[in-house]
Amino acid sequence: MTASPCAPPLPGPGAAHGRRARGAARALLTWYDAHRRDLPWRRAERARNPYCVWLAEVMLQQTRVAAAAGYYERFLARFPDLASLAEAREADVLALWSGLGYYRRARQLWRAARLVQVQSGGQLPSDYAVLRRLPGIGRYTAGAIASIAFQQPVAAVDGNVRRVMRRYLGREWALRRLETLIADWGRERPGDFNQALMDLGATICLPRSPRCPLCPWRAACRTRGEGETARPAAARRPLTERYALARRAGRIALVQRPAASARMAGLWELPRHRGRGRLLGRLRHAVTISDITAEVYAAHSPAGAIRWASPAECAALPLTGLARKILRRFADTPAARLPG
Ligand code: SF4
Repeated sequence: MTASPCAPPLPGPGAAHGRRARGAARALLTWYDAHRRDLPWRRAERARNPYCVWLAEVMLQQTRVAAAAGYYERFLARFPDLASLAEAREADVLALWSGLGYYRRARQLWRAARLVQVQSGGQLPSDYAVLRRLPGIGRYTAGAIASIAFQQPVAAVDGNVRRVMRRYLGREWALRRLETLIADWGRERPGDFNQALMDLGATICLPRSPRCPLCPWRAACRTRGEGETARPAAARRPLTERYALARRAGRIALVQRPAASARMAGLWELPRHRGRGRLLGRLRHAVTISDITAEVYAAHSPAGAIRWASPAECAALPLTGLARKILRRFADTPAARLPG
């Protein structure tokens, strides 16, 4: 990375640093007040509600904003508060999560809700260190909840924020040091400052082509996006999977993935198809690093421990995202009509 010739020295102790920190924070917050994204979890009644903030942050891990938004609304409609989530059955939570992927997030969210309900009467802790002890809450999520919902002066550093700060500062800082810097710069409005950094990374300081002329930090940025080589995208693995679509008296054959399965444990899907049969069609489905081509065959007596699920059961069961897609395309069940 090359530093811009008029770049300021790196932040450090002293009055100059204090002025720079205030200047950077002010510029970013002014920009944020004018350009913040209008997101479902930022509505007034949700923005300071710890449960709503927590749910949003969990859903946004490895999921794009546009994909998470619909799930967020449906989840809150069904489980409007922590108590209702704690009382739910795990299978119902997973069913609502179906299609969003990374189901471990849903399981940990549910487990953490039950713990909080028992340990503190449903009040999510405001303290960063206490939040970190809950299932599924790492450094970033704890920082986001503590700062956004409780206005605690802590950082929430994810990959986007690291990129923005790396470009702005001119080099990569160790995570702890970066968190200390961000917490310091954002201490007057910690939640807004963290969200401003997230928005800057999502809309201006983009991974491949930063939009520096629009950036509130362009004057002091040490790189203005120069000198970075974009990392090549990880190679994706093409896969072909064959599924059997079998009906009996209006019911669909489903099988459950093993509880010990590394991915999507316990979720329901269509049985695998073996041998010949009538091909109903193909569809594509992307999962983490795999691009799956699913071939769907008409079948009568699929192998395995079959559950013949009625349309209502299909709608209520935690299905894999691919199973939902197949049902939507080829079976037109109520489950298939669920969005997502
Ligand atoms: S000036 Fe460009 S590279 Fe620097 S923080 Fe802003 S968008 Fe990113």
